[in-house]
Amino acid sequence: MGSASKEYEFLSEIGLSSSHNLGNYVGGKWLGNGPLVSTLNPANNQPIAQVVEASLEDYEIGLKACEEAAKTWMQVPAPKRGDIVRQIGDALRSKLDYLGRLLSLEMGKILAEGIGEVQEVIDMCDFAVGLSRQLNGSVIPSERPNHMMLEMWNPLGIVGVITAFNFPCAVLGWNACIALVCGNCVVWKGAPTTPLITIAMTKLVAEVLEKNHLPGAIFTAMCGGAEIGEAIAKDTRIPLVSFTGSSKVGLAVQQTVSARSGKTLLELSGNNAIIVMDDADIQLAARSVLFAAVGTAGQRCTTCRRLLLHESVYDKVLEQLLTSYKQVKIGDPLEKGTLLGPLHTPESKKNFEKGIEVIKSQGGKVLTGGKAVEGEGNFVEPTIIEISSDAAVVKEELFAPVLYALKFKTFEEAVAINNSVPQGLSSSIFTRSPENIFKWIGPMGSDCGIVNVNIPTNGAEIGGAFGGEKATGGGREAGSDSWKQYMRRSTCTINYGNELPLAQGINFG
Ligand code: NAD
Repeated sequence: MGSASKEYEFLSEIGLSSSHNLGNYVGGKWLGNGPLVSTLNPANNQPIAQVVEASLEDYEIGLKACEEAAKTWMQVPAPKRGDIVRQIGDALRSKLDYLGRLLSLEMGKILAEGIGEVQEVIDMCDFAVGLSRQLNGSVIPSERPNHMMLEMWNPLGIVGVITAFNFPCAVLGWNACIALVCGNCVVWKGAPTTPLITIAMTKLVAEVLEKNHLPGAIFTAMCGGAEIGEAIAKDTRIPLVSFTGSSKVGLAVQQTVSARSGKTLLELSGNNAIIVMDDADIQLAARSVLFAAVGTAGQRCTTCRRLLLHESVYDKVLEQLLTSYKQVKIGDPLEKGTLLGPLHTPESKKNFEKGIEVIKSQGGKVLTGGKAVEGEGNFVEPTIIEISSDAAVVKEELFAPVLYALKFKTFEEAVAINNSVPQGLSSSIFTRSPENIFKWIGPMGSDCGIVNVNIPTNGAEIGGAFGGEKATGGGREAGSDSWKQYMRRSTCTINYGNELPLAQGINFG
């Protein structure tokens, strides 16, 4: 690959080839009988390497082995499973920089965010290790003499994980770390445009399983697109499918899984707002908006897309933002100082351009940006638009660094605008008023899953349950008690006497 090969030398440090890679770890072996695809660098659209995706036959080999492995894995004591996840965390730590670099190269996010994303998986491993000793059930008083009721949490068996391009390893971490300590095998399909990350992550996990003489099929991973995703959705051997991606595809997956009485965990589109009240710390708010709207080139599910400004601070906040937007360095995500990397694909760039046309046709006024950057790569300008909150386009998620500035007069009006979109992922208010804060997090406040105060909409910690309401899908992943979704609850009533008293005092003959 000429001069490119030097740039990609680091790939060998994480088990990747800069030419040809088998993309599927099935039955503890690397193989591939599906299409050969090139993975591209979004900064120049040049190929990084080639990957062989999975065929449906590969999928079937993988699922058969995974079904067998599930019987072994669910019987390993939970704290021992935790120790395996601890080792995965250690393996990730040792390759943190290389993996972060790969994320920047293949997904296009800036290096600090690439490293941060891998760190998030490490954090999830740490969290899951502790959790492996706390999958506690409960003992419930029975109304009958010599009876005892208890709740046990048992593994589901296999958890399917389908992930999106924008968080190609963190979302795996949210799901897989928890699913594994809960005693489930994992079947993972990453995004078709980030196969090298899927392979590199899987290699680390596979090495840990091998070192511990465990079946490799405990972690089954495949590269591919909708065909493999649909196979997971349809597969009755997979009781839970965790899906992260667009609302449109997520809804279709939910219907397929429900039709076979399976469960879904959905993390779908967001359309997140930041409200700046008249008493807000303007500096704090402006810095937060910059990170929330421009970070990851607007390609986070939690990206701030709507900025709701109190009429008294509208001009002041916008003035600050317009100044800082002009200083945002656009460029190669691996270069020091870059704040805005490319969009992920040429299609994303076209979507941005199309989106700006629609915005203008609905009365939107471009205050800054609004154009794609000429030349190679999928770069676009960070954009602020002045528009009415009633415009139809404001209700949609445009996956790019486009921020709508909207004006309001009262707290109630701001909350109503926040809640007026189909999505319900993340939201944030900037205020110093305790009254506003408590109203905001209460029943008449934000209807989102993430309800922040004086911080951006993005950059969630793993300790809380992450997810959103309405068209965002209702799922909760990562911390808190999200683990319960990866287990089945057995409610057990045990009679240790010799009589048969019935519940509700029923006398049956
Ligand atoms: P996408 O819906 O196009 O793809 C997501 C995944 O679904 C990919 O792996 C894809 O191959 C797979 N897929 C496609 N068709 C399928 C089918 N018919 N059956 C099963 N699987 C199928 O989404 P994307 O463009 O990769 O990601 C961006 C979207 O993801 C945005 O809407 C973003 O908000 C959302 N997202 C949400 C969260 C969250 O936590 N709520 C996190 C990250 C991304």
